[in-house]
Amino acid sequence: MKYCKRCVQPDTRPKIKFDQSGICFACKFTEERKSVDWGKRENDLREIVSWTKKRSNGSHDCVIGISGGKDSTVQALFAKEKMGLNCLLVNLAPDGITKWGAHNIENLIQHGFDTMLYRPNPKVWKKLIRYSFYKYGNPVKPTEYPLWAVSYITALRHKIPLIVQGDNAGVTVGVTEGLGHDDNALNVNLGNTLDGGNASDWVVEGITLKELLWYQFPDKEELRKADIRAIYLDYYIKEWGHWSNTDFSVKRGLTKRENHDPLLAGRMNPYCSIDSDAQIINQLLKYYKFGFGFVTDETSYAIREGRMTRQEAIGLVEKYDGKCGENYIKDFCEYIDIPIDEFWRVTDGFVNKRLFEKDPKTGKWIPRFKVGVDFNEKE
Ligand SMILES: [Zn+2]
Repeated sequence: MKYCKRCVQPDTRPKIKFDQSGICFACKFTEERKSVDWGKRENDLREIVSWTKKRSNGSHDCVIGISGGKDSTVQALFAKEKMGLNCLLVNLAPDGITKWGAHNIENLIQHGFDTMLYRPNPKVWKKLIRYSFYKYGNPVKPTEYPLWAVSYITALRHKIPLIVQGDNAGVTVGVTEGLGHDDNALNVNLGNTLDGGNASDWVVEGITLKELLWYQFPDKEELRKADIRAIYLDYYIKEWGHWSNTDFSVKRGLTKRENHDPLLAGRMNPYCSIDSDAQIINQLLKYYKFGFGFVTDETSYAIREGRMTRQEAIGLVEKYDGKCGENYIKDFCEYIDIPIDEFWRVTDGFVNKRLFEKDPKTGKWIPRFKVGVDFNEKE
């Protein structure tokens, strides 16, 4: 396990790349952004807007998939106010959406948008979460498919020329494989999250393909033939970032999780991923599988945005990463209908035993590594 010399990202993230001097690609891209000709990008964006308006005859100009969170608030308001586009928002509500998530969607819509609300079959949703927890130790994997796919499905069906996405994960976390690091968001299904984006991956537990229509990422050829374009806004917005998007969106009415406690939520930012508690469980599992959770991500963003030193980040990661309140685990177990000791039995199977060892006294997994310090897993 090696850590980036600049941020606190470890090389245990699947498909992450580091350069020869031990800097992760997310930090390298941040460095590169300093020498970008932003005036040129602004002109390029203006051309995209005029291209879009020529084609949107009788339809909306663009589709934006929103969760109502910090990034989608920036996306929608930027597209409307700075690009002057007539936007169609699409929201696919997670089953068991939190009240804060519902509030934030409504807040964004009230800024003046047409919106389509998708509500996928909750029985299928629940079955998939349970299946994916057992199979991959990742309960949210299947839910990412429709969250991303519906924007593309909607654009195709309603002949809307442009899809506006937020950030390119290739750039944000430094995993370039399949994603590239430009503005082209037609390849979003090739990233680690969607693994190709084929609904057939989820024909399991008696679920049929017909029940997964919104889980299918449209055929690339079909999108090309329809002359649909999809862009990442982080390519065009100099100020784009985890924490700066939060600041922007809070000013525009974004609400936070009440009684937020980083020791229970395993994250510092009370405004992030608050529409579903399943993300909190997923970060706990990620921590045991790869030795890092969401605090590693958010402090690394803060370092790259110039808001935190690496030393401060290490302290916060040590304190909060991988933490998860028992109430979240209990709720999750009730949701997928398993006892709590079954949750830990399954989780134990996913724990990376090169990175963690069990404390014989407490029975809890404790890290063998020290945050920010390169560690030989074979020792
Ligand atoms: Zn880094």
